[in-house]
Amino acid sequence: MIIVLKPGTSKKDISHLVAKIKKLGLKPWVSKGVERTIIGVIGEEDIIRAKPLEAFPGVEEVLPILKPYKLASRDFKKEDSVISVGNIKIGAKKLVVMAGPCSVESEKLLIEIAVAVKKAGADILRGGAFKPRTSPYSFQGLGAKGLKYLAKAREETGLKIVTELMDVRDMDLVVKYADMIQIGARNMQNFNLLKEVGKTKKPVLLKRGMSNTIKEMLMSAEYILAGGNFNVVLCERGIRTFEDSTRFTFDVNAIPVVKALTHLPIIADPSHATGKWGLVAPCSKAAIAAGADGLIVEVHPNPEEAFSDGEQSLLPKNFEKLMKECAEVAKAVGREM
Ligand code: PEP
Ligand code: MN
Repeated sequence: MIIVLKPGTSKKDISHLVAKIKKLGLKPWVSKGVERTIIGVIGEEDIIRAKPLEAFPGVEEVLPILKPYKLASRDFKKEDSVISVGNIKIGAKKLVVMAGPCSVESEKLLIEIAVAVKKAGADILRGGAFKPRTSPYSFQGLGAKGLKYLAKAREETGLKIVTELMDVRDMDLVVKYADMIQIGARNMQNFNLLKEVGKTKKPVLLKRGMSNTIKEMLMSAEYILAGGNFNVVLCERGIRTFEDSTRFTFDVNAIPVVKALTHLPIIADPSHATGKWGLVAPCSKAAIAAGADGLIVEVHPNPEEAFSDGEQSLLPKNFEKLMKECAEVAKAVGREM
């Protein structure tokens, strides 16, 4: 449930109420909005319902949160959340672009790509060191070595890095190197992994599972928030449908739907959503027009030789062109790039 406080409620009254909620064995989450502060209470509603909460100074209203996801819902927080990855802000007026290879392949190549995407205006370097591959015989990623190369590329370019975590056993290693942890589509409902990343304060890029509904994605985000980590950015990366002319079906609907249901930012991944490099630009523009807070795009200077996802990787020169075209669309919808 949420406890709505009157405007101007004192810090002392808020602390008093928070202490009372904790004493009842429940978890209070204080959300300070522009106009008023609200306290989300997660736990057995009966315990708190039995208390005359309206009698506490500063309490205006006590309301149930009807959605199954609570901390992620707009009921809990009306204003958009802005997630910081170092000095980069995701969910603000300026769109954030993450770009880089599907897999980290070598230090030299990674730095070459990092320099190119930075020059084109990207904010964050992407690259998988641990790769979730459909076939056990496909390249599985460089692991720890790949993380070290990412750190080197960050050092060289100043770009922040986002990389996938697939297994709780690699948690400490990935937390040590990454600025943002990616939870891939195939692990969106790996609840133990979600609980672990919920215990850190690292920003998390939570990708929508290819067979998951928007509601399920929000429930997965809720796992991370409920652990105390509110630094979650969602990602629409295409879903499986009967359509087979593209790798997945880019669900552009999801962007405004998510925006209405949650305060968390959402970015789009047009590379995985389409599986074809020629479709990346039109779908990126559609995503921005629909209200996405940014993009994650695969870039490779030699897609024919890429260890993974070459078919959907943009050449650096095409990425540069994409950035320019997207800036026009961003401007048209009141955003910046
Ligand atoms: C990726 O980003 O390279 C990736 C594997 O994405 P997804 O989890 O969306 O398939
Ligand atoms: Mn990929």
